[in-house]
Amino acid sequence: MRSDDAINLSRRVALAGLALTAGPLLQPSLSRAALAPSRQQVPGLYRFRIGLFELTAINDGVWNVPIDDKFVRNVPLQQVQQAMAAAFLPTIDRLPLPFTALLVNTGPQLVLIDTGTGGQIAATAGLLETNLRAGGVAAEAIDTIVISHFHPDHINGLKTKDDALVFPNAEILVPQAEWEFFMDEANLRAAPEVLKGYLLNARRIFKNLAKRLRYYVADKEVAPGITAVFAPGHTPGHHAFVIASGDQSLMVLSDTATHPALFVRHPHWQVALDMDGAAAEKTRNKIFDRVAADRMLVTGYHFPFPACGHIATSADGYEFYPRQWASQL
Ligand SMILES: [Zn+2]
Repeated sequence: MRSDDAINLSRRVALAGLALTAGPLLQPSLSRAALAPSRQQVPGLYRFRIGLFELTAINDGVWNVPIDDKFVRNVPLQQVQQAMAAAFLPTIDRLPLPFTALLVNTGPQLVLIDTGTGGQIAATAGLLETNLRAGGVAAEAIDTIVISHFHPDHINGLKTKDDALVFPNAEILVPQAEWEFFMDEANLRAAPEVLKGYLLNARRIFKNLAKRLRYYVADKEVAPGITAVFAPGHTPGHHAFVIASGDQSLMVLSDTATHPALFVRHPHWQVALDMDGAAAEKTRNKIFDRVAADRMLVTGYHFPFPACGHIATSADGYEFYPRQWASQL
């Protein structure tokens, strides 16, 4: 008899004994006690393949952003809240904005695209390193980090709250256009308060990292098989990426659209997080037309986990279709 059979048998005997002495009413409470609710989510990981590359979507958590009449610049609040209700979002006064970074195993290199919040944005986020480890990858193993733009939810995971480096062996690739805007002293002096906070945050994160930094420009590879696509508007140097291997490809949208229930469905809506709303809208339409026409797989940093799927045109905008879970790659 195998040992687990023996356990099952002795459990059955014990249960039978209990039933005899205490009666059948005891059994339901025993089965409730057998597995207490964990009240914790399982690791936020989703793995898929593009040609020879193995990709892992890594969830960092969520930020429940308070919504007011300034959240979408060019649409009344009531209309935004109607769209949130229509998409079955849990509340209409807070938008759950998830963060999902992307790990690309190209074979020779482990590349991480964006780094999560580093636990510095919301108490409900900062899980990237834990989830990465749950996927069998230590922070030390990352060779290359590619940053899409300099908003804190994309760069703060490079360092802890106490400025310790999280990925000690990685080279860090940053968009040259973004660097030039964010590090410019005249821009800092002229910046309104929120933007000033972003500019100062970027200075803190990249301080003492000069030796690890490399600057990239659009239409060139940031790593073999990963090409930067200029996608301005969200920030001046914001980039998307095309990942291609074999006959398959993927568009990493970064923040071309934030939450798809609002900004894929309604691409002309301009979120307050977009620095140049009109430019962001133009970029959105251009990239969405391309991925819809080519039926190209996309990932979106703020899309619901696993943040991966397809975009198709609809009557007055686009629709996002989440990718189906696959237990085999
Ligand atoms: Zn973002």
